[in-house]
Amino acid sequence: MMANLVDFKIDGKECMSEEGQYLLSAAKDNGVYIPSLCNYEGIKPKGSCRMCTVRVNGNLTTACTTRVFDGLEVDNMTDELEGLRKGIVELMFTEGNHFCPSCEKSGFCELQALGYRYRIGAPRFPYLSPNRPVESQNPKIMKDQNRCILCKRCIRAIKNDEGKSLFAFKNRGYKVVISCDTDLAAGISDEMAQKAMDICPVGAILKKRKGFNVPIGNRPFDKREIGSEVGALR
Ligand code: SF4
Ligand code: SF4
Repeated sequence: MMANLVDFKIDGKECMSEEGQYLLSAAKDNGVYIPSLCNYEGIKPKGSCRMCTVRVNGNLTTACTTRVFDGLEVDNMTDELEGLRKGIVELMFTEGNHFCPSCEKSGFCELQALGYRYRIGAPRFPYLSPNRPVESQNPKIMKDQNRCILCKRCIRAIKNDEGKSLFAFKNRGYKVVISCDTDLAAGISDEMAQKAMDICPVGAILKKRKGFNVPIGNRPFDKREIGSEVGALR
């Protein structure tokens, strides 16, 4: 059966996609970049980081959870929305402990890449400098809560053969951290450990005994601005 196609506009640009497609991916298919962090292709969107906030027919909403329909009018690259997104990135940097020059994920990290995109030198907010020990008791993976942005990608995507998530939220409010089920994690394959590392947008999950064989300067975001693969950035 033929999909029902709908017309909509992003910042005045005429776009077309299947009715009901999520706006974030529909925008991408039309060569329009909407910044995002917690979203990951192939897993159900959560709208938790709020980076993809846009105005749809005048109302603020997250593009990753909004489905397109005919006549949709979207504001994306406005000063207001880009200002909000920059603020979110600044808050993420100040909430944790991020020392990019010594981080294994530098050059692959989506938060760092967004920091470059928004030209963040010194954030406007005070650093919280929390005391969070690195967890290395699992045989296959290391978890560094200092770098975690609580995007839930690992919870949603990393499951064993019985469908049990290896990762979960622990504690409440500002004390929330990601916990890793030690028993489940002990039995994971190298491939799953690698998948967990790859799916984490920052350097909070690392596969143990992995060589970091791409030199600094040759890593993806050393060479291109995040979102540039989609099309028009601003
Ligand atoms: S996780 Fe990303 S932002 Fe944080 S220290 Fe590593 S490279 Fe920098
Ligand atoms: S460990 Fe990584 S994937 Fe999991 S919530 Fe934290 S930042 Fe997201």
